[in-house]
Parts: sequence; C-alpha cells; structure tokens
Amino acid sequence: MTDTTPIDALKNNVIAPQVHLIAGRSEPSQDGAVLDVLSPRDGRQLTTIADGGSDDVDRAVASARRCFDNGAWSQMALGGRKNILIRLAELIEEHAWELAVLGVRDNGTEINMALKAEPGSAASTFRYYAEAIDKVYGEIAPTTQQILGLIEREPMGVVAAIVPWNFPLMIGAWKIAPALAAGNSVVIKPAETASLSLLRLAQIALEAGLPPGVLNVVTGRGEIAGEALALHNDVDILAFTGSGAVGRRLLEYSARSNLKQVYLELGGKSPNIIFSDAPDLEKAAAAAVNGIFRNSGQVCVSGSRLLVQRDIYREFLSRVVEGAAQLKVGDPLDVTSNIGAVNNLQQLEKNLNYVAIAEREGAKRCSGGERILSETGGYYMQPTVFSDVTADMRIAREEIFGPILGVTPFDDEAEAVSIANATDYGLAAGVWTSNLTTAHRMIRSIKAGVVHVNCYGGTDITVPMGGMKQSGNGYDKSLHALEKYSALKTAWIDLG
Ligand code: NAD
Repeated sequence: MTDTTPIDALKNNVIAPQVHLIAGRSEPSQDGAVLDVLSPRDGRQLTTIADGGSDDVDRAVASARRCFDNGAWSQMALGGRKNILIRLAELIEEHAWELAVLGVRDNGTEINMALKAEPGSAASTFRYYAEAIDKVYGEIAPTTQQILGLIEREPMGVVAAIVPWNFPLMIGAWKIAPALAAGNSVVIKPAETASLSLLRLAQIALEAGLPPGVLNVVTGRGEIAGEALALHNDVDILAFTGSGAVGRRLLEYSARSNLKQVYLELGGKSPNIIFSDAPDLEKAAAAAVNGIFRNSGQVCVSGSRLLVQRDIYREFLSRVVEGAAQLKVGDPLDVTSNIGAVNNLQQLEKNLNYVAIAEREGAKRCSGGERILSETGGYYMQPTVFSDVTADMRIAREEIFGPILGVTPFDDEAEAVSIANATDYGLAAGVWTSNLTTAHRMIRSIKAGVVHVNCYGGTDITVPMGGMKQSGNGYDKSLHALEKYSALKTAWIDLG
C-alpha cells in the first residue's frame, strides 16, 4: 500500500448519528436513546448509535419474520438469491476502502490488516455462499423398495446474530452470508464499540437488491438489545461470536425462552509450540510475533501462549523480543503502523491489569507492558512479552484479548501436549517441527479446532472454523456452516 490510498479523503468525514436498519428503513430507537461512539484512535467522540431496547428488537424480529413468511427471500428462485448475494460481494469490493476506513475509525484495527480481513473477507464470504446456493442437493434415504425417503434441507426462519468488536464485517459476514444463502431472514446486533461498518454493509445489501427487511441491524448494548434478541421467542437460531461469559448467558436465555438453537464461537488461549527441529526458526519467530500482536492481540485465535523447547528457549525468546520491539504501534489509519489501537479503554485497562497480575505471579517482563501515545487520547499499548510463564499462572490460563504473550519452556513432546491442553479453551494451536510424525501426533493430541503446522494463522472461507471445549460449538465458514442455518426435513412416501 502507498500513500496514494484514499484514507486521507475518508478518515475525517463527519459521521452522521447512526440508527437501526429495520425493514429497510433507518429507524431511531423507539425511546430516542443513543450511545456515544468513541474513536480508539484518539478517544474523541465520533458519532452516536441508537441504543436499542426490546421494542426495537421486537420491530426488527417482526420485520425478519414477515419477510420470511411472505417468501420475498425464503422462496425466491435460487438463481435470484444467488445473483443478489454475488452483487453484494461486488459492491463490498467497490466500497472496500470506505468500509475498511469506517470500521477502523470505531474499532481501531490497523488498516493494512483491516482492508484484507474486513471487506476482503466479507466479499469472499458472500461470493462463496452465493455460489453454494444451487450446489447443495437433497438426499434419498436407502429405505426398502416400497418407500421413498426424501431428505431435504429447509431454512429455519429468523436468525439472530450477535457479534464482537474485532472484525465486525468478517465475523458478521460469516453469520449473515450462510444464513441468507439458506433462505433465512436475519437480525444482527453488532458490538456497541464497532457497529458502523456493519450498518453500512446492510445498506449496501439493499442496493444489491436484498428485499427490505431480510437483513436488519439493531445497535446498542449487549445487556439490553443483545439480551432482548437472545430471549426473543420468535428467533429460531442465535449465532454468537464473543466471550465465554456472554456465551453462557445466551444458553440460559435460550432455555428461558423458546429453546432456540444457540451456536457459540468463543474465546481461546491458543498454544504455539516450537520444537527445536523447526524448519526455520527465524520464520517461526516472526510468525509467533505476528500471531499474537496483530490487531493488538484482539484476535480469537491469537497464539497467546508460546511454548518453546528448552534447548532453544533463550535464543528463541530473544528473537521474539527483538521482533516485538520492531513493531510500530500507532494510528491505525497510518499505513506504516504495524499495530493499531486497543478497541476501548476498558479493554486497555484490563490488559494493563494482566501485566500487574503476571508480575505478581512471578512471570518476567521482557518487553512492553505500558500504555503509550496517551497524549493522543487514543488507546495504545506496547506489545508485551513475559518469559518464565508457568501453566498455572493466570496469564497462561485466562484469555486476555490483548497484546500480551506468555513464553513457557518444555522438555519433550509429552510435556508440550500436556501444557498445550491445560486450558479450558480449544480454539487454535501451532506446531513447528521438521518431523512429520511429530506433527501428525501433535495434530491428534491437541484439543483445538485448528492446528497450524509450520505456520501460525492463515485460513480461507473453504475451511470450517470452530472451537473445542469452552471455545464453542458449531462452525463458521465452509459448507459445514450452511448446515446450522437449515433444518433437515424428511418425507416418508409409501409407494404401495
Ligand atoms: P463480548 O462477549 O463482550 O461481546 C460480544 C457481543 O455480545 C457484543 O455484541 C455484546 O454487545 C454482546 N453482549 C454482551 N452481553 C450480552 C448479553 N447479556 N446478552 C446478549 N448479548 C450480549 O465479546 P467482545 O469483548 O466484544 O469480543 C471479544 C471476545 O470474542 C473474545 O472472547 C474473543 O475470543 C471472542 N471472539 C471469538 C471468535 C471465534 O470465532 N471463536 C472470533 C472473534 C472474537
């Protein structure tokens, strides 16, 4: 990227107060309530969003239900649905800079990453599920000759999605695109600190020809609008990405309401394991640094636990500390920044508190650990590396969701597996070794939804993403994600 990007033209645009998108119309909250949106770049107020309440959620769910029942989308010819979602993917690409800059202004992700991960992923996600629409067939069961057993998939109805602040467009698209492709209507609630780009995406969907009311966005607080959506008796499926604490509540809300299906994509405490026979230690160190510090550590699959075989431990630690020191933390809309801002002040304070906890518990701070650039008013934190971390320390067990890496030595494969699995989470892992057998054994032994080998991170829409243990249930991405947005319907036909 060069300085010929359109960032300068977009970054200071005044953003009008934002409201819900319900039934294709911009609607304020019934009671007129709003929330301030602060920019993590400088702590200043950017705009306001509507602070949704249960009346607003009711209106949005009713709009989604109406569209489902009248068949405007659910019964549209598959070719028509497909063309609209492909057009949406094209429009996202045409608006890529606008969407990326808008998103960075309220969520703080460094622009180089945001451009690829946000409009880039969202466009490929909509295109992928659009293409899948007319490629999924029903089945005929192998029953006796007298019976025809038909197995079809049909849409569920109203899908509610609740998403977090990191990567709202990408994660939003992972829910919206397969839900729409399967013929459902959707109500999405973005995080209160990252709503702007999803609201814009929903407007662009109208331009692409999505019938008004099929995709609704209600903004506001989790404990108000989110709770109302999760408790709603006319929501058939709740697809969530966020923290385990909220995920637990959503299961309770389902039990207290209509037993809606709840799919949870939750947090992680992912181990990145470096054996001394790793093929390229320099590459491994660079990937370890990138794997924890991109987006200020606000990535669910961050490799926040670095396990290093003891004979290369000190040398590898130095490489990582050196790599971290080279990262430039700064304005996320400056293309030379490697790391942008922490999304909000509360998260920054949580990160700093974990630095204090780690020191109290005896971990050794090798670099970082401080808030920086506070004169800008923004929420910036140094990439932070702790060594001598043991598996029982809180920074080894609890998800921080910040730029903090704990480094732990291990002696052999068995110990690496034992430390790697000593967590409630099971989202991602990395293994670096030249030994194919070790790699395969590790893939089988580590309880995680994805195990990266000789790389950390990297994925595309064709592979499912989901967690084991307390990292969640169900999958986003790939054809597998379509399954959760449709019900199996069988017909048992007596051919007499
Ligand atoms: P969060 O759980 O605090 O909030 C997520 C969403 O839930 C927000 O929209 C919030 O408003 C809403 N919410 C909060 N309380 C609610 C309630 N009582 N009822 C209904 N909705 C409620 O998460 P966050 O801090 O925004 O995001 C960080 C978390 O998300 C981390 O744990 C991270 O690992 C996880 N995450 C997971 C994945 C994945 O794919 N597994 C991806 C990204 C982020």
